[in-house]
Amino acid sequence: LKYNEEQVKRRKLYNQVQEAKGNIRVFCRSRPLSKQEVVAGCASVVDFDAAKDGELGILSHGSNKKTFKFDRVYTPKDDQVDVFADAAPMVVSVMDGYNVCIFAYGQTGTGKTFTMEGTEATRGVNYRTLEELFKIANERTETHSYSISVSVLEVYNEQIRDLLATETSKKLEIKQASEGFHHIPGIVEAKVENTREVWNVLQTGSRARAVGSNNVNEHSSRSHCMLCILVRADNLITGESTKSKLWLVDLAGSERLAKTDVQGDRLKEAQNINRSLSALGDVISALANKSSHIPYRNSKLTHLLQDSLGGDSKTLMFVQISPSDQDASETLSSLNFATRVRGVELGPARKQI
Ligand code: ADP
Repeated sequence: LKYNEEQVKRRKLYNQVQEAKGNIRVFCRSRPLSKQEVVAGCASVVDFDAAKDGELGILSHGSNKKTFKFDRVYTPKDDQVDVFADAAPMVVSVMDGYNVCIFAYGQTGTGKTFTMEGTEATRGVNYRTLEELFKIANERTETHSYSISVSVLEVYNEQIRDLLATETSKKLEIKQASEGFHHIPGIVEAKVENTREVWNVLQTGSRARAVGSNNVNEHSSRSHCMLCILVRADNLITGESTKSKLWLVDLAGSERLAKTDVQGDRLKEAQNINRSLSALGDVISALANKSSHIPYRNSKLTHLLQDSLGGDSKTLMFVQISPSDQDASETLSSLNFATRVRGVELGPARKQI
């Protein structure tokens, strides 16, 4: 009986994955108003009345309401479990040989790190993903042997830093292997066999991120934090092996530079962030338009993600927003970016799950 139930569940999941195949999907998540915002008298500009239908309204300039539609819209009441339940079918497909990319986009302070990393009490997509991969590997021991490894990187000012490395002096470059896969020679790929090992690796990565920066929060808002999960699957029945890659990315903050900050290091950082986030948008548009040239090489971010953007890979974007009236213009700009991304069909016609 248990076997049948599992089969039904797996088939359902498989169908969901098939429907999502080749598509970019966009989930929108808003954090709640913070205590400080409430105290300061900020009002929410987000209308969640049609959130169940994937719609969200932004009230701007008094009575005007602009409506957006995404594959999912979460209200601040939806928790990490609700969010991961929707992301899981994508994640699972990496165990079947697909390349997958999940990234969180949005202004600093909107919950990108909350969604991807979470906290020990409310773990996010990164940890839950690995937990799910182990679960599947354990269910399939009779037919498959899996080997899973994790790398943790940071891209800051167009430079790649290996957050699991013990020496930091090495200059890291992206190379293309003979089978077409992109990789970074010399990068640490930590083999993980259970969730405890995963938690340790993720913690090591987080700690390394803080090293060498005066202000950890500021630094992490200006760099992309990227987790790369490599899955090697050996099919014990057919003898076939597949290698697939799952990227989980907490992007740098998408906010525009304040007019008071337009010089020096801040300017350079901001230009690099702009450049990589626009490169991401450009790659996705080029894929949508079936351009003969996809400009992956315009930024380290897109170059790294190359294997997991386009082709038959699956991409999920979380667009994170703040509900506060003070952030309304950044919110609109994030939602417009996400709409541009969602307009894309990389493969067969989209069907809503
Ligand atoms: P970002 O990574 O986009 O800069 P954070 O993840 O650091 O933003 O979130 C900013 C603050 O908002 C944190 O204190 C975080 O705990 C809180 N927060 C974000 N999303 C949620 C949510 N869905 N529910 C409750 N608190 C949240």
